[in-house]
Amino acid sequence: MKIEENISLKEHTTFKIGGKARYFCLVQNEKDLKEAVAFAKREKVPTLVLGGGSNVLISEKGFDGLVVKIELKGIEFEEARGGVLVHVGAGENWDSFVAETVRRGLFGLENLSGIPGTVGGAPVQNIGAYGAEVKDVFDSVEVFDPLTGGIFAMTKKECEFAYRDSIFKHEEGKHLIILRVTFFLKENGELNTSYKDVKKYLEEKKITEPTQEEVRNAVIEIRSKKFPDLKKFGTAGSFFKNPIIQREEFEKLLNDYPKLPSFPAGEGLVKIPAGYLFDVICGFKGVRHGDAGVFENQALVLVNWGKATAEEIKKLAEEMRAKVKEKTGIEIEFEVNIL
Ligand SMILES: Cc1cc2nc3c(=O)[nH]c(=O)nc-3n(C[C@H](O)[C@H](O)[C@H](O)COP(=O)(O)OP(=O)(O)OC[C@H]3O[C@@H](n4cnc5c(N)ncnc54)[C@H](O)[C@@H]3O)c2cc1C
Repeated sequence: MKIEENISLKEHTTFKIGGKARYFCLVQNEKDLKEAVAFAKREKVPTLVLGGGSNVLISEKGFDGLVVKIELKGIEFEEARGGVLVHVGAGENWDSFVAETVRRGLFGLENLSGIPGTVGGAPVQNIGAYGAEVKDVFDSVEVFDPLTGGIFAMTKKECEFAYRDSIFKHEEGKHLIILRVTFFLKENGELNTSYKDVKKYLEEKKITEPTQEEVRNAVIEIRSKKFPDLKKFGTAGSFFKNPIIQREEFEKLLNDYPKLPSFPAGEGLVKIPAGYLFDVICGFKGVRHGDAGVFENQALVLVNWGKATAEEIKKLAEEMRAKVKEKTGIEIEFEVNIL
């Protein structure tokens, strides 16, 4: 395995932003990974794991350590009671994997079609879209612990999945490197078309009994309007999480914003669409400071229209967050990992 020096990270992120990595390597198997970790220990530098770079904002200062880009491949299907266990290498492209499951008639991932990134990146923030989350079909994960050099499996419970969250984002699990993810998919599952946009799309196309492929295509087409074209512009998708607040707090806000939408989020809690706060309440849709901007079709999405820096994107995100706080008192968290 080759360890390169001074590699620009811009080309390894969908934001198309980022300085240089002092050291950089592509990891295709466990041996490569062990070698990479040993190298970082020897050189006394930190490591940063990257998958598809679709959920990170990396500073122009770059990373003064070793960036390990995960390219572990392989998909295996194993018959199991009531369905199929699918073991997938962390470096597989997420959407190509989803397409393969749909092609084979395995249910459960079609609503998560079109999300960029790798299979290994998916459990980190428990990716979700159109009424589905990765945790719904997740079985287990195999991880490498650079502190001990050990490889072990973790169950769904141990991964502590929550809304855009898992143990891999917290102190106890941040250092673990995902090698393989196992999903449990059904052969005769049910399609979930209850999400507003999907339902509307299918009604407009007069599709009353959609196939799995039609749901996948619907999701891909709906998504194409919500995000800028990744081939032309930089983005990491939704920059912010939807805030979850106390129901009483929400009810007070209805005095000022009677049309404020909400969704149940557990006992006494509601989830507020952050897009509504940024767009309708704060008017950020389409706002642009130089090349850092808010996408005109979706106020959650920040865009690098050309030469925006990480600092400019972050400044815009902070400005948006502060305005929401000032107008509603709601604190919004970033979904993107700022490095
Ligand atoms: C246009 C667009 C649309 C998007 N839509 C959605 C959406 O609908 N729903 C959604 O949830 N997300 C969405 N995202 C965000 C992103 O695609 C997902 O979070 C994706 O799963 C990130 O995977 P990645 O491989 O690119 O991770 P990276 O961006 O490379 O890394 C993200 C984090 O995960 C860690 N990581 C990555 N791989 C591993 C590994 N093997 N082991 C341990 N840690 C690892 C990294 O260190 C980093 O902290 C979107 C992004 C874009 C650009």
